[in-house]
Formats: sequence, structure tokens, C-alpha cells
Amino acid sequence: MRNAGSGSIAYNSRPSLLHRSLREKPLLARSASGHKIILEDGSEILDACGGAAVAIIGHGNQEVISAIAEQAQSISYVHTGTYTTSAAEQLADLLVGHKPYGLSKAFFVGSGSEAVDGAMKLARQYFYERGEVQRKHFISRRQGYHGNTFGSMSISSNLSRLEPYRDILLPYVSHVSPCYQYQYQTSDETTDGYVARLAMELDAEFQRVGSDSVIAFVAETVVGATSGCVPPVPGYLAAMQAVCKKHGALLVLDEIMCGMGRTGTLFAWEQEKNAAGEPVVPDIMTIGKGLGGGYVPISGLLIHEKVVTVLEEGSGSFNHGHTFQAHPISCAAALAVQKVVQRQKLVEHCARMGNVLGGYLWEYLGNEDYVGDIRGRGLFYAVEFVQDKIEKKSFDPKVQFGLVVQKQAHKLGVAIYPGMGTVDGSKGDHILIAPPFTVQEKEIREIVLAVTKAYRIAVALVRGAL
Ligand SMILES: *Cc1c(COP(=O)(O)O)cnc(C)c1O
Repeated sequence: MRNAGSGSIAYNSRPSLLHRSLREKPLLARSASGHKIILEDGSEILDACGGAAVAIIGHGNQEVISAIAEQAQSISYVHTGTYTTSAAEQLADLLVGHKPYGLSKAFFVGSGSEAVDGAMKLARQYFYERGEVQRKHFISRRQGYHGNTFGSMSISSNLSRLEPYRDILLPYVSHVSPCYQYQYQTSDETTDGYVARLAMELDAEFQRVGSDSVIAFVAETVVGATSGCVPPVPGYLAAMQAVCKKHGALLVLDEIMCGMGRTGTLFAWEQEKNAAGEPVVPDIMTIGKGLGGGYVPISGLLIHEKVVTVLEEGSGSFNHGHTFQAHPISCAAALAVQKVVQRQKLVEHCARMGNVLGGYLWEYLGNEDYVGDIRGRGLFYAVEFVQDKIEKKSFDPKVQFGLVVQKQAHKLGVAIYPGMGTVDGSKGDHILIAPPFTVQEKEIREIVLAVTKAYRIAVALVRGAL
């Protein structure tokens, strides 16, 4: 493997494309196949994060490419007001045709943010049709991310992304504490005690805004980029669902990043059980990133029969829509990706490889001075860095520790996803590792070795600044 150039290259000319940064130009990626991204200079990067946990079957899969080409040949676009396509019908059938846990309809859009906005509007319409028009409020959590459109951004609390818009967000939104054991469960508290405290806080927020005023509680089943792969503690989601039920509100789970097999089960909430041992089934859930594996932009909603019935027996239509909803090429591509996942039993493989990844991370990094926590599920792992392990004190944000580790890993030829503001939006550092489900043990070892080496270099680089 040849070494990759570092981070970014300075501008020598002004590009027409508005990049994320107006000062630095991203690297030019020339091609990608399997688990590798090939850069302009020929260097190869092992893709250990699939972008943002998107590329679940790697790059350049011929079966998916053929499905896209065939769909484009037969029918590339029709408006959903008048037409449907077999690609869209088949994708919906694959996901909810067997009514898993009562989820009975799918709705496809272009991005995760659109999916969250759609979920918010659907939840509101559900109550509107039931005559509960006074329900206007959404409750979500601090340290959670749901998207960048105004609706989804309003319920998000990824502070750095909110900053210029904070004063013009939707009203009727409030945030409660995240379920983030490493930083926020106190040392004299049991896990059950922690869950009880969070349930009381949510209940108090319902009471504060008005028990019959809330549309939904929205949460990521496993928090993704904001705090780095934070799974809920046992019993947490069931307790939150019980609070929602008590006040007649809906439970919306955002699995745009953690869903579609990433945590080792198709839906991450399948691993969350109530006291009776039943999974915590959401009323509406969102899926995205892994759905199309990065071959096309596609995200979606999966909707429980309970919600569908109210619309069916009421107005008879979801008063919402997009030009590109259920786009045939997107649906055909996602269908092909999901068929590969099913045929190759990649969700099961993901669960097995996840144990391998967790094992290696603990083995190589578990005893390091600045590694506070290693956590995750399936092929969805994060390492949280702290300056002081006893106090769990974060680095000075100016040090940008996580970003330095990510940049060094990239120089060593491995792409991982950095995160800052892990703890509260301003302090805290983590890196996120989310390789394709098709990853093999040898590559996992390669990834963890590179991350360990990058961590050591980062420590040497920042030591002077501590
Ligand atoms: C990425 C993400 C979104 C937003 O999806 P986009 O496609 O970027 O709009 C929403 N929720 C979660 C949990 C995500 O990880």
C-alpha cells in the first residue's frame, strides 16, 4: 500500500464547486473498488468508515452497477403522483412486505434529513387526523443528530452544525439528556438507577410542556457521529417508550446511521428489550446511509401499521411528497445492495466481525493513557479520547486530538471518521470506525494497527501542547 497524501491540498485556483471548506480543497478521489479508494496520485486508502457508515458492501459491486444500468435502460424516472415502478414496490416489499414487528409501509426519499422531516410531518399528521391538533411539540436529546434541513436540524443538537441558525429554528422543540453511560452515569448510580433518572427527566419534560402536547420523542437507537457509537444502556429505550405511551406520544427512532444491519441486527432496536423480553418497536423509524450502500442517494421511513391505519381510515393520503421520492434508479440500486446483504448473510457477518473489531481495539488501545472508552456494536465502533482517564477530562478542543488521529491514520492509508464535541458539543474527541460488512479479519487487524500507530504519533505531536 502506498502512502496517501495528508489531509488536504491548498488551492492554487478557485474551484467552481462550493466545498465544505472555502480554504482547503478535499483530495481528488479517482476511483474506488472493494474496500479501497484510489487517489489522484495513485495512493490507496483502506475505507474503514464507508464515508459516514454508508458503503456497507464496499465500492464498485458489479451486481449493483448492473441493476442501476438495467433500471436506467428500462425506466429512469416517473412522477409518483401518477405512476409507480416495480423497483420501488420490490424494495418496499423486501423491507416491510412481511410486516416485521408490525412495520407495514415504506416511504423513500433522497436524504436522511428528508426522511427525518418526513417522519416529523407524518407524526404530526397522525395526531391531526385523530383530532389531537394541540400536539405540536417534539422532544429529542442533547448530543444527537437528525439532519441538516430546518426540521431535522431543529431537533438535532450537534452544536457546531447549528450555530448560525440557532435563532431561527422551529419552536416547540426541547431536548433531554442523552443516554451516555461513560460520561453521564454517576459513579454511585446503578444502571437501573441511571435509566430511572432518565425516564423521570423525560416524564418531567412531558409534564412541563403539557402531557397532551407532545407529538413524538425522537432518538437515535445507537448515537452515531455526534458522540461516537453510543449504545443505550439495557432497559433505557423500553423505559423511554413507556413514558411516550403514558403520554400518548409516538416513538420515532432514527436509524439512518446505525440501522440496516450496521450493529449486527437489521434494525438496531431489535437488541433493545422491555421487561417482557420484547423488542422496543418504534412507531416510525428512519433508515438511510446503509440502505443504498452509497451507490445512490436514498433514505426512507418505515411506518408501523398503527400509524398507517389512522391515515387510511382518515384523509387517505400522506400530505407530503418530493419530486424524487421512490426514485426508480435509487430503489433498484438499494434493492440490489440489500439482496447482496441477504444472500451473503452480511448482517450476521457484520455481528461476528464486530466482535473481532471490538476485541482488537481493546487489545491494542485499551490500556493507552488517553483512551477513555471503546464502545460500539457490530461494525460500529468508536474510541473516545480523554486527557485524564480518572477524571474523564477531555483534551482542550484546540488540540483537536481526534482530528489529528484521523489525519495520521489517513497518512498511513486508512480512512476513519473523526468527531469533536463528543461530550457536550464543545469538548471531547472520538474517532469512529465503520468498515463495510464485507470486511475480513485480516483487514480489521490492519485497520486497528494503523489506528494504534496514528494514536501514538498523535500523542507525540500534541504532547507539547498539553
Ligand atoms: C446522517 C444522519 C442524518 C442525516 O442524513 P443526511 O443524508 O446527511 O441528510 C440523520 N440522522 C442520523 C442519525 C444520521 O446519522
